[in-house]
Formats: sequence, C-alpha cells, structure tokens
Amino acid sequence: MTTGLVILGATGSIGTQTFDVARQLDLPVLAMAARSGSEQLYRLAGSWPEARVAIAHPTDDEQERFTASYGSRVGFGPEAVLELAAIDRSTVMNGIVGSVGLSASVTALEAGNRLGLANKESLVAGGPVVLAAQMKTGAEIIPVDSEHSAIFQCLRGERIEDVRRLILTASGGPFRGRAIEDLAQVEPEDALAHPTWVMGRRISVDSATLVNKGLEVIEAHFLFGVPFDKIDVVVHPQSIVHSLVEFVDGSSKAHVGEPDMRVPIQYAITFPERAVGSLSPFSLAGKELSFFEPDRATFPALDLAYEAGRTGSSAPAVFNAADEIAVEAFLNGRLPFLGIVDLIERTLSKIPTVELSTVQDVLAIDAEARAMATQLLSGAC
Ligand code: MG
Repeated sequence: MTTGLVILGATGSIGTQTFDVARQLDLPVLAMAARSGSEQLYRLAGSWPEARVAIAHPTDDEQERFTASYGSRVGFGPEAVLELAAIDRSTVMNGIVGSVGLSASVTALEAGNRLGLANKESLVAGGPVVLAAQMKTGAEIIPVDSEHSAIFQCLRGERIEDVRRLILTASGGPFRGRAIEDLAQVEPEDALAHPTWVMGRRISVDSATLVNKGLEVIEAHFLFGVPFDKIDVVVHPQSIVHSLVEFVDGSSKAHVGEPDMRVPIQYAITFPERAVGSLSPFSLAGKELSFFEPDRATFPALDLAYEAGRTGSSAPAVFNAADEIAVEAFLNGRLPFLGIVDLIERTLSKIPTVELSTVQDVLAIDAEARAMATQLLSGAC
C-alpha cells in the first residue's frame, strides 16, 4: 500500500470522507489542500500536525493566521497545491471540484503517483491529456466516483473486448418523475435536496439536471476505453446497485451496497487489496430495487453530453465549463433551472471544436467557454 495520502479538496465532501477512511485504515495524511483557508481547514491542519497544507486562494488574513499557527508546513497559491500532488510515492485523492482539478491530476500522474480520481472534470475536460500523462509513467488512475468504482471492480479479471455494455445507474436526482413544466419554477434548495447521496453543491444540481450522469458517461468512455454506443444509463432511485457491466455471453455483473462514498474512496486507496471498512454488514433482504429508462425529454442534458462526447476533442470541456457557469448562476438566482441546459447548448454551438494536447490547451478552451457562457448569460438576463 501507499506511504500516505495527499487529500486535495480537503474540506469538500470527498475530502472529509477521505479523512474518515484514513483514520479507519490508520494511514498517514501527508498533505491536504483546499481552495480557501476556512475554519474547517484550519482545524484539519491542527488535527494532522505532520501534514503539509496548501491553500490555493487565501486571503491576506488567512495567510497570516495559517502561517502564525503552522509555520512553513503551509504553502499558498495554486503552485503549492501542485507541489503536494507530486509528493513522492503518495496516493493522491483528487476531490477538487471543477476543471481546476485537471492540473493536479496531471501532476500526480507525471510524478508516478496513484491518482484516486473524484474530480470527474479531469477526464471529461482533459481526457486525452490525462491519459497521455498516465502513459508516460504508467501511474494508476483508480476511479472514486461510485459508478466508475463499481464498473472498475466489475471489470477485474475480465477482458475489455468481452464487454457488451457498461451500464451506469443514476438516482434520477430530486426531480425524477417530474414533468418539464414543473421544473420551470424550482429553487436552488429543491435541487440541493438529493434523495440518496450526500454531496457538494455543484454535483447536487448536476444530478438534478442529469448533467452529472452525462459527465460520468464521458468519464467512463476515457477511463475504460469503451465507445459511447456501449455505455448506457439506467435510473435506479435507491442507489443500491452502483453500476453494472454486461458481457457478450449475456452475463451481467453488478456492484451492490449501501450508497456511501467511503467504500469507493477506500477501495481506491487499498486496491488491489481490500481492508476492513466502517460500514455495517449489508443485507438485500427487505430492499425493493427498481429501474427505469431515463426521461431524456425532461432531462435533455444527458443526450447533449453524449453528443459532446461523440464530437470529442474540446466539446466535452466546453460542455463542462458552460455547466459550471450555469450552475453558479442558478444557485445565485440568476438563471432558472431549465436555463442550465439551454446555456450549455448555446455555448457549445458558439465555440468551434479544437484538438487538445496540453493542459494549457484545456485551460484555454475552458476559459473561452466560461467567457462565452458568461456573455450569453448577461445577454439573456
Ligand atoms: Mg457518481
């Protein structure tokens, strides 16, 4: 196993659960990073006195406070975050939200570190670049997203050419079963009330629109090297089946358990081994599992994501960047819920597709897409 963990996005949902797993496994946390110097990060830094700390965008006050308390083990700025991702022989858990996580993923892989990938934007926006970095050093990418961890585990011992379909399950989000006209007036609080998973704000809105599932389809394509026509989505409200793989002989394997992110987080750390986890024994008895086709008319984001994925090159990066802007605007009350997908679609139609070969290329297209989405947004409001 690893010498220790580097937890990027330490105060987010994945980050805090990774600390739980570190305690469970009695593993050292070598380093932690967050966007800002929040009280939560301050306390985490205090509880892990050996760990290095990086704050990507601290205020002057935060910088002073952290330096006064923790001295030289704290670094500041995005470069300080990347330094942590390169710590020798560590397992880097990338729980950064958004496309800013890409550089960290590439840095970890180039340093030959195992990457526990919870930042789906890394592969969605920068798939070709991330895979090229991985090829250089042969470093491992172990998915942390529950669906991809499920598929990764179902594929163990199998040949990828024997796969007929990858089937990602989707909870359907808080608006499953609703008609499109009911969705015009929904508020951020409604979208943030996810039925089964405890998650961050952006991903909660993304599951309400099914954008999240669309991003996961694209992520699965890059992670497992499977074409889009062999990747399917099925709605499964209970989130007990975390995803499935169907094989050419008609067999299917499913990964089943309580919806708890500590399971895929722990597996990404212990793979190829397993270790005793903190969950109580699981029982299927008394559970009702149901499955439905996704409502592609009410939630058009799913098909739009397939389309961006098939277009390839920079289209998925544009899809993702426009969504980040749209979700932010929705949460701030500047865009109605149904405007999210609309803004993504209009941004995609405005930006020509280009090839991506470096992180810089990805960041440039990401910035261009954000600027375009922001411009379209101000025109629309
Ligand atoms: Mg997921």
